[in-house]
Amino acid sequence: MSNLNYDIVVIGGGPAGYVCSIRAAQLGLKVACIESRGSLGGTCLNVGCIPSKALLQSSHLYEEASKHFIDHGIEVKGLNLDLPKMMSRKNEVVLQNTQGIEFLFKKNKIDYVIGKACLKKTDFGKHEVFVTHGDNAEYQLVTKNVVIATGSEVSPLSGVEIDEKTIVTSTGALELEKVPKSMIVVGGGVIGLEMGSVWGRLGAHVTVVEYLDKILPSMDSEVSKNMKKILEKQGIEFKLSSKVLSAKASKAGVNLKVESVSSGNVESLKADILLLSIGRRPYTNSLGLQEAGVSMAANGFINVDDHYQTNVEGVFAIGDVIGGMMLAHKAEEEGVAVAEALAGLTPHINYDAVPAVVYTWPEAAGVGKTEEQLKNANIKYKVGKFPFTANSRARANGDTDGFVKILADTITDQIVGCHIVGPSAGDLITEVSLGMEFLAAAEDIARTCHAHPQLGEAIKEAALAVDNRALHI
Ligand code: FAD
Repeated sequence: MSNLNYDIVVIGGGPAGYVCSIRAAQLGLKVACIESRGSLGGTCLNVGCIPSKALLQSSHLYEEASKHFIDHGIEVKGLNLDLPKMMSRKNEVVLQNTQGIEFLFKKNKIDYVIGKACLKKTDFGKHEVFVTHGDNAEYQLVTKNVVIATGSEVSPLSGVEIDEKTIVTSTGALELEKVPKSMIVVGGGVIGLEMGSVWGRLGAHVTVVEYLDKILPSMDSEVSKNMKKILEKQGIEFKLSSKVLSAKASKAGVNLKVESVSSGNVESLKADILLLSIGRRPYTNSLGLQEAGVSMAANGFINVDDHYQTNVEGVFAIGDVIGGMMLAHKAEEEGVAVAEALAGLTPHINYDAVPAVVYTWPEAAGVGKTEEQLKNANIKYKVGKFPFTANSRARANGDTDGFVKILADTITDQIVGCHIVGPSAGDLITEVSLGMEFLAAAEDIARTCHAHPQLGEAIKEAALAVDNRALHI
């Protein structure tokens, strides 16, 4: 496969890279996608979104059966956890998804190259990409355009050495062989709370240690406060404003030294497992970017212009490796945008309408601006809020924690943000994202007929509440 001429060579087969490859091929471009993992789908399908959601679903069912079926008059005797089976189901789900992408590559006639890519030479109109395979086979691909979609990796923390057995990242936390008695999660962001929820539901005592004074720092403050209370009710303990100084693993577990940010007091904590989840950083190892003259920011993200082009003509970058919201669906949109732009179309992404979801139970979701962002930007807004305790379907389901909050511009009534804590918040937020994409006013959602009895009626009621005319509260 040497010296073939491509329209696009995509480096990385994650949501950014594989979607870019499929869309470019649909538009008639000749595409190769290089992936070093040996399986397509990137972090998301292999060690991220999909396996974590499989375990979240299984552990949710286990918790429902052990704690909540009884509320419905269903008694469960002799409930057992078969962790190996739960894990093999998760692996099977991953396999179905990654093989699904291989099938789509074949269907769209995309050349899937397994190996590690390095940008060798870039001249205007012609770039050479070098690929090394595990068996030392080497390929050189010649292409008009290169799309870098190499994603991200776990951010390390000084004093904490990861062994993926006792001190683990999310990848190790997806593979534990038994339920730990205790788990310390360092970092109160999305991944930490999701994985903490999985192991907490299965029986671990989970403590989240967070440097900041709140969890989910990028979400609306009301969401973050509400989620903390709900997760505490579920048994998760939080140590906020706490800095991890060191963590040492031994046969007996992990010993941590944690310093209070306010008082400077240092305390020792112990746990069977430590999960480090303080964020992710761009992954550009051995890509040859410096040699190719591709500009990167001080924090390692690749700099791109509005069309995702780097400072080197014909070299583009998308997904986690360029930063912003490090989410699979944002990466996918960028993949589509680059493919369409290279095929001569004029794509556009409205980042204000990109939702973010936390898949705990209840879920948390947000789109658009938070109240803090609106205040900082001096934008005058109205708030419409509706609690799930007043939603008949949530009551019927026995899932009444949380609320929907819609933020609308005071003068135009245009929706500028929506924040939800509640059952299926991640599904519910899509209605508002769609509305925002169409520049909807709160009035538009308020006048849209929503089927009854549905959780989505809480969205309509919150939209009505923007104008102080919610009906069921
Ligand atoms: P990646 O998915 O990281 O893919 C990059 C690929 O490039 C990798 O497969 C890598 O092997 C390959 N690569 C790197 N360098 C080279 C090279 N030189 N040559 C060849 N190949 C190379 N996001 C959500 O939206 N929803 C979620 O629920 C969610 N859950 C998550 C849960 C966890 C535990 C984690 C870790 C992440 C989660 N994310 C979630 C984030 C999501 O996985 C990422 O935002 C997404 O995968 C980014 O896609 P990407 O294509 O930019 O990069």
